[in-house]
Amino acid sequence: MTASVRVSARGAARWVQGHPWIYRSDVVDGPEHPGLVRVVDSRHRLLGQALYSPRSEIRLRLLEKNEVPVDASWWNRQVSAAVDRRRRAVIDATAYRLIHGEGDGLPSLVVDRYDRWLVVQLLSAGLETMRPLILGALVEQCRPEGILLRNDVAVRRHEGLPESVELVHGTVPDTIEMWEGKVRMLAAPRTGQKTGAFLDQRPNRFVAGELARGGEALDCFSYHGSFALHLARGAARVTAVDSSAEALARAADNAALNQLENIEWLEGDAFEVLRQFERTGRRFATVVLDPPAFAKNKSALPEAIRGYKEINLRAMRLLEPGGALLTASCSFHLRRPEFLAMLSAAAADSGRRLRLEQLLGQGPDHPEIMTIPETGYLKGAVLRAD
Ligand code: SAH
Repeated sequence: MTASVRVSARGAARWVQGHPWIYRSDVVDGPEHPGLVRVVDSRHRLLGQALYSPRSEIRLRLLEKNEVPVDASWWNRQVSAAVDRRRRAVIDATAYRLIHGEGDGLPSLVVDRYDRWLVVQLLSAGLETMRPLILGALVEQCRPEGILLRNDVAVRRHEGLPESVELVHGTVPDTIEMWEGKVRMLAAPRTGQKTGAFLDQRPNRFVAGELARGGEALDCFSYHGSFALHLARGAARVTAVDSSAEALARAADNAALNQLENIEWLEGDAFEVLRQFERTGRRFATVVLDPPAFAKNKSALPEAIRGYKEINLRAMRLLEPGGALLTASCSFHLRRPEFLAMLSAAAADSGRRLRLEQLLGQGPDHPEIMTIPETGYLKGAVLRAD
């Protein structure tokens, strides 16, 4: 029999307001072990079924409001709904996010599709107990050639779970060739950052490709060249900077795959490179800034904002008249209004007049739910200099 967990009125209110998490402080009692539980209020009325993580601050994650079995057929229905959502979104790529956790109603589950393969992350102790059902549904609905678990993520530690990379179905190659729009790329599902590539920026890379019309382009925090490759199709020359030699090695392979010979790869610190370009008077028609999350938690935000402001300010100064800056932040803790405020402050200090041309977000394969702020973390803007 499924265990029951009692929650306070405040805990119950979170579900009514459309957020799937109930925190430790709102849980009255609960079993020792993780798993699927029935959640009840103080009068023992059923509120729903949830994933239970006895060691996590996020104790309960709502899966199902009704009293229906959460079995193989339930998981099949959920995966199939997520697949349909992606079909309706019309995604011009062979790699995209198939399941975006809470954004798809499946808390703490991430599934990225890379062509014929799937890369999966199980990010809570409750979810981990459902592993066979989840993998079974993915195999049945997607018929992948292989499934790799990229469970080497720090958040698993807060759940009392080990970190590991495991092949759990078929075979998965070390590099997978994918395409997005007119660009081909090699992703590294085993060793790459995240699940092998940064899929959330895909639509913004298409925007970058449109922005680059001749002239020089600069791609800072390039990883394996994703933006640089799109820029290089329109720009005369691209300079791409990243601190990871491993990522840049694949970037060079990616350029060759696309027969692009106009990209220069620079291994280094983007802060330094921007400073140096400013000093030496280099100018660019297009600049892309896609830094890693500077604010990993709320207390790191003031320091992070200083970092974001510095790179944006310098990038603005590097723009030729009429040049465009595509800038982004993937720190959840830096919300959209604060991101725009940071850009305004940078613009004020840059001495340049900048027009806000476009606001950017994450792709439709990363659904952002209005009542669940954590589902939306990527924001960006295109700024045009006079
Ligand atoms: N633009 C990429 C994703 C960038 S992720 C894409 O669309 O695929 C952030 C990247 O910044 C990582 O590749 C990381 O290696 C790099 N990085 C982190 N700190 C850096 C620094 N100080 N200077 C340059 N690159 C850095």
